[in-house]
Amino acid sequence: MESIKNNVKNIIDDIPKINRFGEQVIVVAAVKKQPIEYINDAIDAGIEHIGDNHVQEFRQKYDGILYNPHRHFIGRLQTNKVKYLIGKVWLYHSVDRLDLAREISKRSQLSDVTSSILLEVNIGGEESKGGFASDELFSAYKEICTLPNIKVVGLMAMLPFTDDEVLLRKLATSMRQLFDSLKDTDDNVKYLSMGMSGDYKLCIECGSNMVRLGTMLFGSRNY
Ligand SMILES: *Cc1c(COP(=O)(O)O)cnc(C)c1O
Repeated sequence: MESIKNNVKNIIDDIPKINRFGEQVIVVAAVKKQPIEYINDAIDAGIEHIGDNHVQEFRQKYDGILYNPHRHFIGRLQTNKVKYLIGKVWLYHSVDRLDLAREISKRSQLSDVTSSILLEVNIGGEESKGGFASDELFSAYKEICTLPNIKVVGLMAMLPFTDDEVLLRKLATSMRQLFDSLKDTDDNVKYLSMGMSGDYKLCIECGSNMVRLGTMLFGSRNY
């Protein structure tokens, strides 16, 4: 659809290419529930990264996507479904527990690939969200670093749904600080995935370098 292409072009043009830390800002199109044609339109218009939430959708659409964009998995991932993704996902965003990291490691080893992951942090301390608490992040990180065939390349967070901009900035800034403390000691750590359609501007200002956009690119989803 022309309207999707134009929309995507305008948004890509509008988002800063570089954040204030001098890092390139990567736009990941959140493609859940979008038909293949829309996804391919977005890719035609310049999207180079796409992120899925559901394993089944990922598998159904996998071969229909044009031009080989970087594939991300951004949704909550059940351990027993990891096997379907191994070798096909460029970056796993939402590694929110140790047993998931162990399974990705084990399956990656069996397939002789190395998988890159982000550790999800529950920065708002919300019951409803997955992720490591900030005070358990470093011990989890250290343990995951000992696993074979898996590489921690950054952090991911979903901020609470709230209009309280002071709170959002505070949480986004805390995420950047956690990210910096890992990055300072580990050269593999490069990505801070934080920001969706509602809060991506604020997140980039606070130091995100990877935003996941659905509604902004495709309009609201038809469930
Ligand atoms: C759907 C989704 C997004 C994008 O959300 P929008 O508000 O539509 O931009 C980002 N991240 C995750 C994990 C998602 O599930």
